[in-house]
Amino acid sequence: YRRIALARRPDGAATTEDFSFETDPMPEPGDGEVLVEVQWMSLDPYMRGRMDDAKSYAAPVEIGGTMTAQGVGRVIASKAEGLVEGDIVTGMTGWASHAVLSGKEVRKLDEGTPPSAVLGVLGMPGFTGWRGLHEYGRPKSGETLVVGAATGPVGSMVGQLAKAMGLRTIAIAGGAEKCRIATETFGFDAAIDHRAHDDARALRKAIAEAAPDGVDIYWENVGGKLLEAVLPLMNVHGRIPLCGAVAWYSGDVSETNLLPMAWRSILTKRLSVNGFIIFDHWDHYPAFLKDVAPRVAGGEINYLEDVAEGLENAPGAFIEMLKGGNTGKQVVKL
Ligand code: NDP
Repeated sequence: YRRIALARRPDGAATTEDFSFETDPMPEPGDGEVLVEVQWMSLDPYMRGRMDDAKSYAAPVEIGGTMTAQGVGRVIASKAEGLVEGDIVTGMTGWASHAVLSGKEVRKLDEGTPPSAVLGVLGMPGFTGWRGLHEYGRPKSGETLVVGAATGPVGSMVGQLAKAMGLRTIAIAGGAEKCRIATETFGFDAAIDHRAHDDARALRKAIAEAAPDGVDIYWENVGGKLLEAVLPLMNVHGRIPLCGAVAWYSGDVSETNLLPMAWRSILTKRLSVNGFIIFDHWDHYPAFLKDVAPRVAGGEINYLEDVAEGLENAPGAFIEMLKGGNTGKQVVKL
């Protein structure tokens, strides 16, 4: 079977040389295990963190170890109770053509669920948006929300849920095409191209114009100059669900330093800033599916997928995604 391993730890942005392609003998399932043929795999920003040897909420991938990923695939051999050949399951299959997993670590897909949606709109990223918005954003009708990486699976979920609750929603996205998608596909009231505003001051001016009543919720996906631009625009008692900071994942922290002034806003505005890791919240996943799955099926909540073809194209798609090369949830079709 084929797998993609971590060849070395990246210095700054990841490159294709940081990955290696390995071919190993086909693994066999032991008692309680299944062998899965992977059909879809997810590429997520958090994977860049797993490539570093830094202390985090999850252990790094070892050099030579298979890159981690959630996947969807078909059971082709089973020694696990309740699972038979042909079942379509999801689990942590890794960047690989096949995986042996414990029957307890995989979940059978519900009838009618599009397999790749389990990696995006109805999976971990969509759930992150839903849970974080309700728990930490505490949205109220009439308020204003700003979110970066707005056409991705997290940002687009946050934007659509907030809009449906009567908030004014402002997307920050990379490029004119993504801005068009943000308003047309995901219903944002305004979209701002962060690439067209090359410093935090210019970006702040553009956001201020789109948010005449200030910002009540800043959903933090990005960090960097967007964080600097938004913080001074926050209203008193604003909320900041701190979900991620993808602009800083590759270590390319910008030299412009408005951050001390910007962070002071947290103090003076008495803001609630909540860091959160979705792993702590899985007990709410059934409630998420109950709310969101029918709204996806009914077309009220839209989603986009960016499909890379073939395991061999996973590293390139991953590297591009961290720079904004993806439009929508990045998946790989094997
Ligand atoms: P996306 O599919 O949106 O991909 C990442 C996007 O980040 C890119 O497409 C790009 O969009 C944007 N981006 C990259 N660099 C920059 C930059 N310098 N400035 C502004 N935008 C940038 O990712 P997801 O929706 O999967 O994830 C969004 C965030 O949520 C990430 O930070 C991720 O780590 C976090 N997350 C956190 C979880 C948790 O438990 N806390 C769980 C899941 C996700 P564009 O071209 O529009 O700029």
